[in-house]
Amino acid sequence: MNISVIGAGQMGNGIAHVFAQSGHQVTLIDIAQASLDKGLATITKNLDRQVAKGSLTEDQKVATLKHITTSTDMAAGVKSAELVVEAATENVDLKLRIFRDLDASAPAGCILATNTSSISITRIAAVTKRPQQVIGMHFMNPVPVMKLVEVIRGYDTTDAVTKTVVDLSTAIGKVPVTVNDYAGFIANRILMPMINESIEALFQGVGGVAEIDAIMKLGMAHPMGPLQLADFIGLDTCLAILRVLHEGFGNPKYAPCPLLVQMVTAGKLGVKSGEGFYQYTAGSKELVVAPSFSK
Ligand code: NAD
Repeated sequence: MNISVIGAGQMGNGIAHVFAQSGHQVTLIDIAQASLDKGLATITKNLDRQVAKGSLTEDQKVATLKHITTSTDMAAGVKSAELVVEAATENVDLKLRIFRDLDASAPAGCILATNTSSISITRIAAVTKRPQQVIGMHFMNPVPVMKLVEVIRGYDTTDAVTKTVVDLSTAIGKVPVTVNDYAGFIANRILMPMINESIEALFQGVGGVAEIDAIMKLGMAHPMGPLQLADFIGLDTCLAILRVLHEGFGNPKYAPCPLLVQMVTAGKLGVKSGEGFYQYTAGSKELVVAPSFSK
């Protein structure tokens, strides 16, 4: 299948990786050449890790990389696509603009999927002339490792389009779970209030970063604490999702904690910026509780 992936950030490069590894022809598209270069470097590094672990051969690695081409020209990059998966920055206006452009450039039969964490699929679909072919295909981070694909049906998404996306997800080794379209869907509707409450507990001084994460790891058997997870997701992405939930349901329980807003304003975005609730040394994900949070 010809698949175009829009956005080469942490999710987009992972999505390109898993499709290419399953033999699909992938065009990875980004507005920034630097993001494409970084995305390809990340894919190569992750494939090398798979080879070192013995889960992939060197030949399979080479074949996977051959299946990926890159482009900074979206119209040209989707012209023979059968499926587009959009994984650009979590911003409503940006996504609406991208889908308007995709509708004009992608072939009539092409399915337009979005990896959005929270934005209404129906709202995105409504700016196209093919709302029945628009669907949510929500991969989890890190994409090559995590099994779940949350498949989200918009108001008009057809059974046939849903089946194509479910079957494709299964064929690339993922486990699709289909849900309906309300803000945050299922994954982030449940995850984000937990992360926000953890930040609120920190903000009120109920516990420190290490204490909050230790309690959730040891007490609830979570593989990582909510504050560390927020750093991995990206604090800007967490804030954007909470704002979508807050606006979508009009319920104050989703209002983002002022500390989260403050950190994003200060450019503390988590792993991707080198500092969030923890500090990360360049090139590693080593955790040190950030000085502003230590007692
Ligand atoms: P990111 O910031 O790592 O990457 C976003 C990329 O989009 C950047 O490379 C940027 O240059 C590119 N971009 C911006 N505007 C563009 C445009 N007009 N055309 C093409 N590319 C453009 O973000 P991310 O974490 O990869 O998130 C991408 C999407 O995936 C968001 O919708 C996010 O909500 C969703 N998501 C994120 C996670 C996560 O854990 N980070 C998990 C699931 C879903």
